[in-house]
Amino acid sequence: MSRLLIVEDDEALGRALAINLKVRGHQVVVATNAATALRIAAASPLEAVVLDLGLPDMSGVAVITGLRGWSSIPIIVLSARDGQRDKVAALDAGADDYVTKPFGMDELLARIRAAVRRAEPAALAEPVLNMGDLTIDLAAKRVRRSGSDVRLTPTEWHLLEALVRRPGRLVSHRQLLEEVWGPSYWSQTNYLRVYMAQLRRKLEADPAKPQLLITEPGLGYRFEPKDAERNGAPTGAASSD
Ligand code: CA
Repeated sequence: MSRLLIVEDDEALGRALAINLKVRGHQVVVATNAATALRIAAASPLEAVVLDLGLPDMSGVAVITGLRGWSSIPIIVLSARDGQRDKVAALDAGADDYVTKPFGMDELLARIRAAVRRAEPAALAEPVLNMGDLTIDLAAKRVRRSGSDVRLTPTEWHLLEALVRRPGRLVSHRQLLEEVWGPSYWSQTNYLRVYMAQLRRKLEADPAKPQLLITEPGLGYRFEPKDAERNGAPTGAASSD
């Protein structure tokens, strides 16, 4: 059985996290510095890493970069910092999600569960998402709403796809801009605002209160597939219960 690695130099907090996670059935190992964390990660398979950004020997971002050199293991960052910059740097380095200290244990556990679920290969193998009256077919590059095709421009589709392929995950402005428009566009967040507004008008029941395409202020966007069913085969008809 694989283990969760907690990287936290605040030993009391590390212990409290370990106790809470063990109670919920996880095997847990705690590292109090970056070098130990990297050694443990290299030594045996892990379920996920919960990573404090402020570590005594090197930055948490350097740990993410080190892990991402060879591993796609889910990484959830714990950040005591208010600055968006640290969170953005962590996400850009390859973190899957973050939780700001102080945090509720339930929130952290939910984030860990979601990250681990997303890391399962089956999650990406299913090209059709059914969400109420909305169907997104990644293989056919087709969106249907209430039985009719929704016409998307190539850029709108590309942006939607970039989010839908990472369900539930916070995708940073920079990741989206580089992926959809290209590396030289990494700072053009106004493009994202314009195109997200267009997508919401076409896909959201109430574009002013988005339920699917969620803004994470100053950081990026998250596709929340509420009550989504995933099907392997494209279906034009409404799904039955
Ligand atoms: Ca710390």
